[in-house]
Amino acid sequence: MRNKYLLMLIAFLMHSIVIAGPRLIIQNGTLIDAVNPDRQAMTMIIEGDKILSIQSAGEAIALLIDDVVIDAKDKFVIPGLWDAHVHLTFIPELDYKTSYDLFLKNGVTSIRDTGGLIRKMQPAITYANKNPDTTPRLFFAGPLIDGKDRVYKGLEPGFPDLSIGIDESSDIEGIVDELTAKGATFLKSYEMLSRPTYLKLLQVAEQKGLRVTGHIPLSIDLMEAIDAGLGGMQHIRNLDLACSIEADEIRAQRGVLLSNRGEIPGSALRSKIHSEQRYTAIANFDETRCTSIIEALAENDVYQTPTLTINTFGSKRFFADAKWRETYKFLPKTLQKTWQTESLRLSAQPVDPNDVIFGNWSMKIVGLFSENNVKILAGTDTPIGYLTPGYSLHKELELLVEAGLSPREALRSATIAPAEFFNLQNKMGSLDEGKVADILILNHNPLNDIKNTQDIYKVILKGMEK
Ligand SMILES: [Zn+2]
Repeated sequence: MRNKYLLMLIAFLMHSIVIAGPRLIIQNGTLIDAVNPDRQAMTMIIEGDKILSIQSAGEAIALLIDDVVIDAKDKFVIPGLWDAHVHLTFIPELDYKTSYDLFLKNGVTSIRDTGGLIRKMQPAITYANKNPDTTPRLFFAGPLIDGKDRVYKGLEPGFPDLSIGIDESSDIEGIVDELTAKGATFLKSYEMLSRPTYLKLLQVAEQKGLRVTGHIPLSIDLMEAIDAGLGGMQHIRNLDLACSIEADEIRAQRGVLLSNRGEIPGSALRSKIHSEQRYTAIANFDETRCTSIIEALAENDVYQTPTLTINTFGSKRFFADAKWRETYKFLPKTLQKTWQTESLRLSAQPVDPNDVIFGNWSMKIVGLFSENNVKILAGTDTPIGYLTPGYSLHKELELLVEAGLSPREALRSATIAPAEFFNLQNKMGSLDEGKVADILILNHNPLNDIKNTQDIYKVILKGMEK
């Protein structure tokens, strides 16, 4: 009898060894993350998909016969990166496999999809579940949760169907339960939600332990949304209004525009409100007022995904840069052509002064976020705005540093901060024993120049070298 148990134990151990596979040893590298002090000349042992141990390179290790060793002398080891704002299904010509490959090639080992119908996302979700070794970790919200008059409903050009519309009569709890049953781990709110519906959504989400991030609905005051438990914001949207000395008048006008709308569809009304109000609001920027709002954002852990890549679309104009357009060659052929043609057409047009105003304002606000310790997530809105998946994340890191973050804070925004958003900070986001082995080895120090995140020596995903 005893022998039987012993044999079972041996079989179990053998099985575990077989599953773990060969270990990966990263030898003699400098470890850099946003949690620990920098550690030089360290050796990291990875077993399975986890960091098993980290020790000084001087300490002896017993190498096993099938250990795979990577010499990281003069190299810099950082955690795998996140893009916290992507839309896998925004452009039908861009298939999810191409996107996944581009993310991984650029060291983006985790992505947060911030809006897509589950029905359309399902193939990408199923593929990622079936092929975890070759796909980034995928976190998704499912559809934008909008008001009954939805912005993204697939009826106007540039506005694909990405959303569902709800009002006070909707079964919000049922809708949220259905989304989480399908794998959603956070919710994305949108701009046409009515105030009471939005407040109810926040309440339901809080009961279910989900963060709601998104666009603050046009119908609500930002401070009220913060008090009601808003979990995050995208694109710094609607902070322009809240930070204006004329916020109260602008909000009153907005209320009139929202109620006396006639036949204007949601998408057009939303754009009309922004174009009529944004620049007046920015022109009347009130720093004292803004700082108190930003302090509230920091105190209440309202995660900001500024998406500077998209907010500076018309001012930085990456599409006008021939070097940027080289990244299009990794896209499917038809899309390459469209992006190239469109980029050249837009490049020939003069810069819109309003775009410069908005781009500069966005950079300034991110600087204030950084000074006030607001939690920032690096996200890009790829593939919107000719922002090639993966490549755009590194542009976002550059812009965050340009806006005032230190390179380490920029790394934080793409590593431990998004992990914290999902309460996964004990499992990922830094180089610590027991954490997941999503790792980048860089040729140069990213703290000297954040552009060095682009000079990747190796990408390790779930303990495996790519
Ligand atoms: Zn988006």
